[in-house]
Amino acid sequence: MQLQDKVALITGASRGIGKAIALRMAREGASIAAVYAGNHEAAQKTAEEIQSLGVKVKTYACDVSDFAATGELVKAVLADFGQVDILVNNAGITRDGLLLSMKEEDFDDVLNTNLKGAFHLTRHLYSHFMRKRRGRIINISSVVGLHGNAGQANYAAAKAGLIGLTKSTAKELAGRSVTCNAIAPGYIESDMTAAIPEKAREAILASIPAKKPGNPEDVAALAAFLAGDSASYITGEVIRVDGGMGM
Ligand code: NDP
Repeated sequence: MQLQDKVALITGASRGIGKAIALRMAREGASIAAVYAGNHEAAQKTAEEIQSLGVKVKTYACDVSDFAATGELVKAVLADFGQVDILVNNAGITRDGLLLSMKEEDFDDVLNTNLKGAFHLTRHLYSHFMRKRRGRIINISSVVGLHGNAGQANYAAAKAGLIGLTKSTAKELAGRSVTCNAIAPGYIESDMTAAIPEKAREAILASIPAKKPGNPEDVAALAAFLAGDSASYITGEVIRVDGGMGM
């Protein structure tokens, strides 16, 4: 139980990759502050699954794109749990479309949730981590942030931005024993990828050397490792979980 007595604040924890990370960290003994946007039913179900593992869990509905709301969220989590040891910035959305016709609001929504959301939580927990002299920040980027993707300029920009945010955070906080790393998943089965049309899905699968999609648990295993003491000398890294897609 490498995360015993640790508290993990995980955004987008109601479904998909965030849920898998929450369950995996709970299995390692961590208490879980599970943040979600508005899907109360999914969040409740996730909380019940986490609770059955015997750790403390609380759910928080909060829009990560809202600076003031995330400030209140952090205050509430610190009041409920007393500390935060691990921050996982996982909440994300897509608003795909070619640049030719991309609406400004679709660009802004994706940047505000996927990139600014991570800034907001990092900013509000920064001094807490500094004072503790220990912390783990894990940002969920994407292979699309490394390579770009036609039809996802907004998403790719946000995910590439997350990599810059990760490295800068890592440099600022390394001296305080706070690490910050990014995970770049490839094609992972979730509600997000279920929306991809069959033809496009076939093309993506053909581009993966492993010839299969990844599971949320594949990402969760790496997140749990990065959150633990064994990863204390790893910071500012971007690690792909993509079945070889980026080779
Ligand atoms: P899902 O669509 O399955 O889940 C998204 C999660 O984010 C939900 O918990 C949702 O909450 C939450 N969320 C969305 N918007 C907000 C917001 N404004 N504030 C707070 N929470 C929010 O996505 P995945 O699990 O597939 O993806 C998780 C992360 O991994 C994302 O950042 C995504 O970009 C990234 N990723 C995913 C890949 C994949 O192939 N699936 C590949 C590479 C990266 P609610 O349930 O309340 O709506």
